[in-house]
Amino acid sequence: MKETSQSPVGRFAPTPSGRMHLGNVFAALIAWLSVKSRGGYLVLRMEDLDTQRTSAEFAELLRSDLRWLGLDWDLETDPQSQRSAVYDRYFEKLRDLVYPCYCTRSQLHNVNAPHLSDGTYVYAGTCRNLTEDQKAAFDRAPAWRVKVPDKLWTVEDLAQGTYTENLATDCGDFVVRRADGVYVYQLAVTVDDGEAGVTEVVRGMDLLSSAPRQMYLQGLFGFQHPAYGHVPMLLAPDGRRLSKRDRDMDLDFLQAHTTPEALLGLLGYACGILDKQAPISARELAGEFNWNKLKNQDIYLDISSLL
Ligand code: GLU
Repeated sequence: MKETSQSPVGRFAPTPSGRMHLGNVFAALIAWLSVKSRGGYLVLRMEDLDTQRTSAEFAELLRSDLRWLGLDWDLETDPQSQRSAVYDRYFEKLRDLVYPCYCTRSQLHNVNAPHLSDGTYVYAGTCRNLTEDQKAAFDRAPAWRVKVPDKLWTVEDLAQGTYTENLATDCGDFVVRRADGVYVYQLAVTVDDGEAGVTEVVRGMDLLSSAPRQMYLQGLFGFQHPAYGHVPMLLAPDGRRLSKRDRDMDLDFLQAHTTPEALLGLLGYACGILDKQAPISARELAGEFNWNKLKNQDIYLDISSLL
């Protein structure tokens, strides 16, 4: 699906590991509003690389939750669990830049400096220059890391403004294929968004620090960079981040207690699109949508007005 000047292509890429909660609903809503307010398309993709945690049943519930909300999609692409042969081809393109890494999880956390933004670590390059003899001495399968350049990446984010990261100092060489052969999120998402012709990536703020890694891979694979919009996180009135653990915030509970229009009215008001809280359909909300209205700080959401 290629963009013409009037038709942006967005996507919603949920992980079907549980019932949709309000954080997912909000990301899906803004992704949908952003393209539908400009006559664009939305691609749906199930990110089920982790086959232990995800299921076809949860994927079907996600689709029915999106339908209930009135958030339709123009195309659903193959789930990631079925695309390892495609990812193999892209991994092959990285041949001169990847190397095997034998570090154990505890070594990784003990040896490397913590990553400032997301609680992971900055990989110090421990396995970058192993000799063939050193590699042969490990009797286990390695993960594969891609070498990163010492270069500043800038994301001009639609919601968050300018975000910069130097992968060499803020992240280090990162894993693209795990030791068990499963490709990691960063590679899969870059391939899938690129092949689907996605022109804008809208998702939760917690993934902002992934954008530079994905931009780097886009360049290596020959894809255009999409626009990015990382939407604020939703918090309960007591400051808790809404997550899958909050049963009262998932769609199973909400569908039993409210209407899609009331829920969209609350979300539209809480995030700054509407100036008062009143029931509204997704289509009507698209008429009100504008990135400039969207808050860029955490959003406190009190659902008691719906119950
Ligand atoms: N699958 C991820 C999630 O459900 C989203 C990844 C993305 O949008 O890039 O949190």
